[in-house]
Amino acid sequence: MADGFEKINLGYSTKNIPLPSEKDYLKCLISKAETFMRNIRWRTFFFLNPDITSESKETYGFKSTKSPPFIPELKEFEDGMLNLVQNIEFNHSKSQFQKNLSEDVNKIKKDNKLFVAADKTTNFYKLNPDSYNKLLEQNITKDYKKAPQSAERTNTLEDKKIANTLDLEDRIDTTAQTQAFITLKDHKPNFSNKPTCRLINPCKSEIGKISKQLLQRINSSIINSTELHQWKNTDAVIEWFNISNKHSKSAFISFDVCDFYPSISSDLLNNALDFASRFDTITKEERHIIQHAKKSVLYDKNTPWSKRGNTNFDVTMGSFDGAETCELIGLYLLSQLQDLDINVGLYRDDGLAICNNKTPRQIELIKKQICNIFASNHLRITIEANKSCINFLDVTLNLSTGTYSPYMKPNNTPLYVNKDSNHPPSIIRNIPESINKRLNNISSNETIFNESKPEYQEALTKSGYDYKLKFNSDQTNKTRYNRKRTRNVTWFNPPYSENVTTNLGRKFFYLLDKCFPPGHILHKLLNRNTVKLSYSCMPNIKQIISTHNKAVLKKCEPKPNLNPRTCNCRNNTMCPLDNKCMTPSVVYQATVKRHDTNTEETYVGLTEHSFKTRYNGHMSSFKNNENKHATALSEYIWTLKDKNVQYSLKWKILSKAKPYSTSNKLCNLCIEEKYFIIHRPDLSSLNKRNELVSACRHRKKHLLCNYN
Ligand SMILES: [Zn+2]
Ligand SMILES: [Zn+2]
Repeated sequence: MADGFEKINLGYSTKNIPLPSEKDYLKCLISKAETFMRNIRWRTFFFLNPDITSESKETYGFKSTKSPPFIPELKEFEDGMLNLVQNIEFNHSKSQFQKNLSEDVNKIKKDNKLFVAADKTTNFYKLNPDSYNKLLEQNITKDYKKAPQSAERTNTLEDKKIANTLDLEDRIDTTAQTQAFITLKDHKPNFSNKPTCRLINPCKSEIGKISKQLLQRINSSIINSTELHQWKNTDAVIEWFNISNKHSKSAFISFDVCDFYPSISSDLLNNALDFASRFDTITKEERHIIQHAKKSVLYDKNTPWSKRGNTNFDVTMGSFDGAETCELIGLYLLSQLQDLDINVGLYRDDGLAICNNKTPRQIELIKKQICNIFASNHLRITIEANKSCINFLDVTLNLSTGTYSPYMKPNNTPLYVNKDSNHPPSIIRNIPESINKRLNNISSNETIFNESKPEYQEALTKSGYDYKLKFNSDQTNKTRYNRKRTRNVTWFNPPYSENVTTNLGRKFFYLLDKCFPPGHILHKLLNRNTVKLSYSCMPNIKQIISTHNKAVLKKCEPKPNLNPRTCNCRNNTMCPLDNKCMTPSVVYQATVKRHDTNTEETYVGLTEHSFKTRYNGHMSSFKNNENKHATALSEYIWTLKDKNVQYSLKWKILSKAKPYSTSNKLCNLCIEEKYFIIHRPDLSSLNKRNELVSACRHRKKHLLCNYN
C-alpha cells in the first residue's frame, strides 16, 4: 500500500442516516419551518392583494430574497407553528444499528485524518492532511494553471450582466468558492504503488441553473422531433433492446467516450447548438447563457486556478447543467452516426449499437467510421465490436438468445440503506419493493431472475429486511413515471427523526384545519390540497464525512494574519469578554443582575462582525435616550435606570456559527440565535419569542446586485 494510506470499509452504505442530536434536529426544524412560513406569507400576500401582480417574469426558480410582509390573517397559524416547533418531544432509544452508526460517527469526528472516498468502490482511505494536499496539488497542476485574481471578477461581472437582463440580480448569489477535492481510483490495477485520483471541481456558477432549464427545453425539442436514442436509464436501454431487430448474425458495437465532460470544447457545444437550432428557436442571449455557464474557476485553499490552454471553458462534473450539456452533445453525436446503417444509442459517455446482416469485415469498417466521427469532434473513444453478448450499465444483453440479465461489476457487492437508518418510514418501506421491481425489470425471465437473486437477497437481508425477492410475471407496471407535480402546493419539509415522539404531521394538519376552516377568507388558499407535508432527511454518513474533511483541512490552513489580536480593550482587565472581545460570528448572551432583588434576566444576540463592535452598539443604546428601544436588552436597562435600580452586566459567548454561505444557502448564525431564543428561554428571558420569520441581514452582500 502506498505511504500513509489506511483502508477503511464501513461495511454499510454511506447513505445511511444516523440519529441527529436534539439540537441539530431542532435547528434544522426551525430553518424548514421558517422557509415554509415565508412561502405561505408570500402566497397569502399575493392572494389578498390581487392588484399587485404576482411575479409574471420567468424566475428560473430563483426565489425572492425580500422579507415577506407580516399578515394579520396568518397570526394564529404562525403562533401555532412556533408552538409546534417549541414543543417537540424526544425519546432516546437506539437500535443496535444506530448505536454502531453513532460509534462510527464519533470515531470519524475525533480523527484528525481525512476520510477520502474511493471513486467506484465503497472503500475509504484515511490520509493525513499533508499527503492529501500533496496528492490534490499534483492533480490540479496536471490540468490547471494559477488563474489571475481577475478571472473570478470577470466571470462574476458577466453573471451579473446576465442576471440583470433577466431582472434577477436581486435573487441570485455570487458563485460560492467551493474548494476542489479528489477521490481515489482504487479499482485501477496499479493503485497500491501509484495511486491515481479523480479531481472534482464542485465550484459552479448559479447561472448554470438557468442554462440547465434552457438545455432541458432544447433537448426535449430535439428528442420529440427525431428518433435518436438518448437513453436516460437502463429501462430505456432494455426497451430499445427488446424492440430492436435481432438475428443470429447480429453483433454489438460498444464504445465509451474517454473523459467525456472535460473533452467537450466550446466549439463542439456551439456546433451542437447550431444543430439544435433546426428543432428549436435559440436566441443569441440563450446561447450566451449556455456558453457562459461553462466558464469555471477551480479553487484550492481559496486560490483560483483555470484550465490550461487559452480558455476557461470547462464542463465540470456536478455542475448544474453538466448532465444536460452532455445530453445535447450526445444527441448531436448520435445525429452524425445515423448514416452508418446501425441501430445506435447513447447513455452519457457509453454508446451501444446493433449491426444486422454484416460481415465481421464490414463491422470493422463501421467501427473505424465511428472512431472517425468522434475524432472529427475532437473526442477519443474506446470501442469493441463483433460481440453477441455485452455488459452495458447494469445489464448483460445477449443477442443470440435475445435475453438480458442483471450485471454487476466484479468486486462490487450491492449495499442498501439499512432498515434502521433514520430515513422517513415511507422511504424505508419502499426499498425492498423497489429492489424487487428493479431486479424484475433487468431480468428477461424467471430463470435469469432466480440465478441473479441470491446476491441481492443477501444484501437485503444483511440490511435488516425480511422481504423475499420474487419473480413477478405480471410486469404491466414496469415503468410508470407519475412525476406530475401539482403546482400551487406549498410544502412543509420538516426533518425526520426516529427519536421524535411528537406526531408532527397530525399536529400540523390539525393546526391548518383549525386556523383556516371552510368559510375562512384563506380557506381556498390554505387547505389540505394546497399545503402538504413531506419529511426531509438529516445528513447521512457521506455528508458527515465530507463535513469532517472540510474541518480537518480548515484546521491546517495558515490563518490569515489580519487580526491577530483577540482583544483590543485599552485595559485588558476591563475586557467584557475575558480578552476575547474581537471574536467574530458569535451568538452571545448578556446577563443583567438587579442589585436590589438579586434577580437575573438574560438576553441573546448575534453578530457577524467582532463582538466588540456589537458591544459598543449596546453600550451606546444604554446611554442615549434616542436608542432606548434599539433592543429588548436596552429597553430593560432603561426601566432599571428609570427606577434608579443598580445593576451589573455580564457577557459571554454561547456559540460560534457561520453566517450565510452561498454554498449551502443557509445562515447558521441566524438559525443558531433562533435556536437559543425559541428553545432555551432559560438563557434568553428578555428576548421576544413571537416570530418564526425574520430577516437575515447576512445574505445581502452575496447577491449579484451588490457585487461591484
Ligand atoms: Zn477586549
Ligand atoms: Zn443571517
